[in-house]
Amino acid sequence: MTPEKFESQIQWLINQGFTVVTLKEYFAIKKKSGFINERTIVLTFDDGWKDHYSTVFPLLKKYGLKATFFIVAGSVGSSSYMDWPQILEMQAAGMDMESHSLTHPKLTTIDRKQSLKEIKESKQVLEDHLKGPVSIFAYPFGYYDQQIIQMVKDAGYDAAVTVSGMNAGYLMRKDKAFTCIRYALEGREDLETVARLKRFYP
Ligand SMILES: [Zn+2]
Repeated sequence: MTPEKFESQIQWLINQGFTVVTLKEYFAIKKKSGFINERTIVLTFDDGWKDHYSTVFPLLKKYGLKATFFIVAGSVGSSSYMDWPQILEMQAAGMDMESHSLTHPKLTTIDRKQSLKEIKESKQVLEDHLKGPVSIFAYPFGYYDQQIIQMVKDAGYDAAVTVSGMNAGYLMRKDKAFTCIRYALEGREDLETVARLKRFYP
């Protein structure tokens, strides 16, 4: 995704009258009113890459938008990842910082004790730095199963997200809040076509 294309997509969303909220806000609205306007959209960014600070953050500020960032807690400050001061600056500007594990493994393929550590300790590390609740988890690569969902719940998260294509959210539909599907935009797509496909645009 180029910055130019991302900016034109932001402009398209605004022109179409979409309301952009963070995922934390989305769940809060849903909990309070039990209803979400269909023209509500959540922008999420995974892994905590440096360009989320240098490129995405300035563009979001330019248009007065907020987004949710899923941070790989164990990678903060290393090579191509954001550091804590950058993450804190974004949080102070209203960005929603949530957990994307400690080291980004496929949680269903590693030792279950290690999976639990990834889920619990990432929350702890993030909360220690952010000085506030981290309540949403993004499964690395979208990998989850019933046991992983249970671990995420037991660790105290309120919700979890996957990506379309990975289990596609069909598994454990009864746990909808823990298998929220996202649509990945990588730059080749036309946002209007995607919006139609997903039926949130006529
Ligand atoms: Zn990731």
